[in-house]
Amino acid sequence: MSAIVVAKFGGTSVADYQSMSRCADIVLANPDTRLVVVSASSGVTNLLVELTQAQLEDERRQQLLKEIASIQYKILDKLGYPDNVAARIDKLLSRIGVLSESLTLNRNKAIMDELLAQGEQCSSALFAAVLREKGESASAFDVRQVMRTDSHFGRAEPQIEQIAELCSQHLAPLLEQQRIVTQGFIGADEQGSTTTLGRGGSDYSAALLAEALKASAVEIWTDVAGIYTTDPRLAPNASPIKEISFNEAAEMATFGAKVLHPATILPAVRQKIQVFVGSSIAPEKGGTWIRHQVSDEPIYRAVAVRRDQTLLNLHSLQMLHAQGFLAETFATLARHKISVDLITTSEVNVSLTLDKTGSDSAGNSLLSEALLQELSQHCRVRVEENLALVAIIGNKIATTAGVCRRVFEVLEPHNVRMICQGASPHNLCVLVSESEAAQVVRALHENLFEAA
Ligand code: ADP
Ligand code: ASP
Ligand code: MG
Repeated sequence: MSAIVVAKFGGTSVADYQSMSRCADIVLANPDTRLVVVSASSGVTNLLVELTQAQLEDERRQQLLKEIASIQYKILDKLGYPDNVAARIDKLLSRIGVLSESLTLNRNKAIMDELLAQGEQCSSALFAAVLREKGESASAFDVRQVMRTDSHFGRAEPQIEQIAELCSQHLAPLLEQQRIVTQGFIGADEQGSTTTLGRGGSDYSAALLAEALKASAVEIWTDVAGIYTTDPRLAPNASPIKEISFNEAAEMATFGAKVLHPATILPAVRQKIQVFVGSSIAPEKGGTWIRHQVSDEPIYRAVAVRRDQTLLNLHSLQMLHAQGFLAETFATLARHKISVDLITTSEVNVSLTLDKTGSDSAGNSLLSEALLQELSQHCRVRVEENLALVAIIGNKIATTAGVCRRVFEVLEPHNVRMICQGASPHNLCVLVSESEAAQVVRALHENLFEAA
């Protein structure tokens, strides 16, 4: 079989029957697109997340269950309730009911992940039915058979070698016979318990499956026509990028460009698989190709913003001319599975920003009381929240004269809490208050991309 293409469709792309039908046409237009990876229909994961929250009133719980069911039934209705699919959806919906009820008694992370996984189970069953309705031979496949992860519920780590092995055993042979539709975002650990990869994880799933299957390309179909110079919702003058390198795209994803989950590029880099990002609403507009090598590597490529940042300020006189303070701090953070993002130090202070502090799949905070107490034993801890990290992404940023001037001239009216520059040739980041972030992004975009 020739190298396959993996196509991933995000939540808005599979929001309803009409959207699914448009996406099915995109799949059918390319005979190499053998594997389709879908997110839950738009809004469903948010509703499921609300079902996992503590102290949920029963009335609200019933309302959420109804809203989830209504999204699925609207699609089923357009499909004419094919027997096997209608029965499958009913089964999944009643599973959601049972799991949400058991969470009211026991807020167990494994049950939360099992619950969150049902959104993708529904959309994949429905999408396969839409393909069949168009005369194509297609089946839904439970990705938990192949997407092996560790047992870190809510933010599980994929086990790359096992995924490759399981894919060649269980998935590759099916792809030779028909198109397969599977779920993004979810996996299973060695015991078979359902896990999730963190919010927005379907992009990552698609790239992992493409890597395991040695696909020729991964297509990320979403609601914008590619990767833009900044979030087009924030800056109307943002323009689409035709071609971008793995490095630049990885930096953009890491620094908050939601269009790609931060880990998406890793598997693509490992197998040198090209990634395409395009709009399922307007595929004719083209999109962005992410490649190993590109012809143009401009100094300024994009501006990204990552919200919900936490700044940890650690103060200790022990730091002065002493050794081991940072090692001890990092060891503590590592024990609590916190990954440090940016860091600046002075004689008696160290400031750290924490990566994705606010989030696992169910929105549980990772910054626990236990961690703060442990840190407080050897230093004074101050936590600042409601911050946003704005990153200028490009090439040779650290070694090009004039970059700082063009960045700082627009930052003048703003209170910058932290600056990181120099460690990477690809970015310069500033931490500002969340409420100023949009303004800062627009001002930077204007100065770096729109000025004549
Ligand atoms: P999906 O549900 O398809 O995964 P997402 O909402 O996760 O879609 O990602 C698409 C969104 O990413 C866009 O609607 C856009 O607002 C946002 N976005 C942020 N930064 C960028 C960027 N640089 N280029 C394009 N889109 C961006
Ligand atoms: N459905 C999941 C979410 O909303 C995964 C995804 O869409 O990528 O986060
Ligand atoms: Mg997404």
